[in-house]
Amino acid sequence: MSRSRTETRSESGPSRGENWHSKDLEDVYDELDTSEEGLDAEDARARLEKYGPNEIEAEEGVSPLQIFLEQYTSVLIWVLIVAAAVMAAIGETIDAGIIAGIVVFITLFGFAQDYRAEQSIQALKDMSTTETIVRRDGGPVEIDVQNVVPGDVISVESGDVVPADARVIESSNLRVDESALTGESVGVGKDPGVLEAGISLAERKNMLYKDTVVERGSGRAVVVGTGSDTEIGQIATALEEAQEGDTPFQAELDRLGKVIAAAVIAIVTVIGVSEFVLGDAEPVQVFMTAVAVAVSAVPEGLPAVVTLSLALGARRMAEQNALIRRLPIVEALGSVDTICTDKTGTLTEEEMTVTRIATNRETYEITGTGYDVDGEIRQDDERVDPDRVTELLRCGMLCNNVEIGRRENADGGDGSDGGHSTSEGLTYLGDPTEIALFVAAQKADLDREVLNEAYPRIGEVEFTSDRKRMTTLHETPEGDRVAYMKGAPEVVIKRCNRELVDGKIVELTDERREELEARNEAFAEDALRVMGFAFRPDAPAEADDDIEEGMVFLGLQGMLDPPRPEVRDALAGCQNAGIDIVMITGDNATTAKAVGAEIGLESSRVITGPELDEMSDEELADVVEDVNIFARTSPEHKTRILQTLQANGHTVAMTGDGVNDAPAVKNADVGVAMGIRGTDVTEQASDIVLLDDNFATIRDAVRQGRRIFDNVRKFVNYFLSANGAHVLLLFTGIMSGAGLVMTPIMFLWINVVTDGIPALTLGVDPEADDVMDRPPRPPGEGVITDRIVSSIGGIAVSITATLLPLFYYHNQVVGDLILAQTIVFTAFVFMAIARIGAIRWRYGLGPFSNNRWLLVAIAITFTLQLLVLYTPLSVLFGVTALGLIHWLQIAGVVAVFTVLMAIFVKVQDRFFDRY
Ligand code: ADP
Ligand code: MG
Repeated sequence: MSRSRTETRSESGPSRGENWHSKDLEDVYDELDTSEEGLDAEDARARLEKYGPNEIEAEEGVSPLQIFLEQYTSVLIWVLIVAAAVMAAIGETIDAGIIAGIVVFITLFGFAQDYRAEQSIQALKDMSTTETIVRRDGGPVEIDVQNVVPGDVISVESGDVVPADARVIESSNLRVDESALTGESVGVGKDPGVLEAGISLAERKNMLYKDTVVERGSGRAVVVGTGSDTEIGQIATALEEAQEGDTPFQAELDRLGKVIAAAVIAIVTVIGVSEFVLGDAEPVQVFMTAVAVAVSAVPEGLPAVVTLSLALGARRMAEQNALIRRLPIVEALGSVDTICTDKTGTLTEEEMTVTRIATNRETYEITGTGYDVDGEIRQDDERVDPDRVTELLRCGMLCNNVEIGRRENADGGDGSDGGHSTSEGLTYLGDPTEIALFVAAQKADLDREVLNEAYPRIGEVEFTSDRKRMTTLHETPEGDRVAYMKGAPEVVIKRCNRELVDGKIVELTDERREELEARNEAFAEDALRVMGFAFRPDAPAEADDDIEEGMVFLGLQGMLDPPRPEVRDALAGCQNAGIDIVMITGDNATTAKAVGAEIGLESSRVITGPELDEMSDEELADVVEDVNIFARTSPEHKTRILQTLQANGHTVAMTGDGVNDAPAVKNADVGVAMGIRGTDVTEQASDIVLLDDNFATIRDAVRQGRRIFDNVRKFVNYFLSANGAHVLLLFTGIMSGAGLVMTPIMFLWINVVTDGIPALTLGVDPEADDVMDRPPRPPGEGVITDRIVSSIGGIAVSITATLLPLFYYHNQVVGDLILAQTIVFTAFVFMAIARIGAIRWRYGLGPFSNNRWLLVAIAITFTLQLLVLYTPLSVLFGVTALGLIHWLQIAGVVAVFTVLMAIFVKVQDRFFDRY
């Protein structure tokens, strides 16, 4: 894929490192053959063809050859290769050939699984594209970052990752964290002024660089370089994903591997010494016994099966709108016991509608639904003249950053495009809260073009979740300046000393302040998201915090943000699964509580950010255990709540969208970002991206996480108990003098082929029926539980107890070693199948139902066994054809074993938890 892209890149872009920063903007436009209005779509397409996609090609996936060679890093493979060589050297060419064949099988099989896993991981990476806004055909368009070309005019705002190298055209408080490029973590302020030629990268304050992060403010810039022709592309260190360490699974399996290796060495020593002491053993035979022990003890298929089931699980989650960014998180998901979630947009619909507004005297209703501009202002069910509310709605339209444009990328991570569309087939791009205000203003016949003409914007103090307000500065037709502010009502009211009543500015008394607060509360009790609005005539010339004082209050707008219909069930499902849900919202306490009631989230109390600030760590440690709603919070509060929960021993999933949410998302056990609403930075800090921003998707991801964990546990249990049985049977056979129960070749075959193939299919098993009815797995509880350890012992004893007497009889009494080994060899295959059935049964699945791959695998295993027994292959394996009587004996021991297993499970149930 990426190779073919390289070939289409016939020409490199406008030269990098050129002194773009020292040129007049006009010259920059000329050289790039563009203008402030950006490119037209056709030109952009041609340029994309010419310069190639805007991506850095450094990060190639792992090559198939690498994956293949990795198969040879396993010790077991080398043990087998040495064994084959030894066999060949002493003339046992058949054995040597079989061992060599099995080595090839193991490596190809391992390769196939790892390759498939790698493909899944790559597919996931390809899915996580980012969007950006550029001007095309004179209007804003949202496109995938890969499609940005030189000459494009881009818009950036806080939380964005800069899509390409670009020269700043316009900036408003723009500050960029360039540490990805320069290592310097202090943000750099940006503005368009021309600079001296030859200054260092860090000093070029009129340039933006690809993959740096906008900390605050906003701006526009013209792209001068994309893909490899960017500064970061040149040093080829694209913003690296956090280094992926071993998953906890893998770490546990590594430890297990060491234990097994030690056990193998111990057993081999005991057997070897006693064989020598007891007399007649030849060195070759001792050697082959050692090989047999090693191959029967080592669960060679396990690591590949774990990786594959994680990767396939991640792919299934992506289909359900949860994009896994770090594979190990699948495991953590299964033990999440607390989910901290935003309200707005996650528990509620994206689409907000202003339904009720209040000037300082009167309350009005606004009709219409969604982003449809059909609607009117009413009072007591009568249409009223929109002029009565113009001031209030105009503020909402001017103090607003919504853009009207197109979404070029069909998916855009957004399934709900239709709802955002305006009548001309264009789309509102921006914050749903602001879109709602924009639409409300249109219902009062306000037109943005006209307003912008009359009141051109000259500055902005931007919205952040901390400030909970935003202010814009405009020129008036009279040549004065006016500031417009919107934000959380109590925050806005605090900055007002006057109010507008019937077109006149009057003083805002304390009594009136209380009345306003009361009206705010009344709106909030109806689950409305309420915003306050104010303006300031004769505003100062500079748009900084100073303009947000002495303002004139205009009124309130309340918007309906209906809960997502599926959230109620999802929430109940989580609670049923022992997962506590905590709503952490920037919104008002009353609104939060009302929305909570609608979705079934009860909280004894609602704690607000300011109250939280007053609490000591000890108090908070108690509070987080029984409070489920936190309101009027800032991002730091999220971090504090998270830390307290974690200190209390919880495994926490935390959602976030804004720039400042990134730390909390990063530090959570499972960091969840919003695919539609979220900022690029938060996305990069996250483990999972919700492509639909929907809370219900978190629940689905948890369910998948639990399913995958169960499946890993199932096949670990299966592998280890089978291997334990092999070793015990082999060991007791030799030590008791019954004989060598199976040849090393048989051990190898069973371990790799007949055990391995069915085990693999456990990875795609459906979830247990109780998967969301049981409490989360305690943190730190590994795959291998006490119950599994006891199973390994119990199964080994049961198998040895049933098979050894039969073997003894045929070998020692009848005196037919080959027959005795053939019977053990065949009985093992059936016992393994019985064991799989028993394990699945314990998870509430029918022993062999609901997984057609398992049936296929079992069929393959049987067929192979019959081929080995009844075709010329039998010579290679040193087996003899079984007669009816022998099959009956095998059926008998397998039946006895199955009964023993069932009894054993009942005994276990008395002593252990269910899994
Ligand atoms: P939430 O979205 O959960 O309400 P935020 O932290 O995003 O939390 O917002 C906090 C508060 O700031 C909101 O309740 C609202 O009153 C106000 N607010 C939200 N968006 C804007 C905006 N674009 N401009 C001004 N104020 C806003
Ligand atoms: Mg918000």
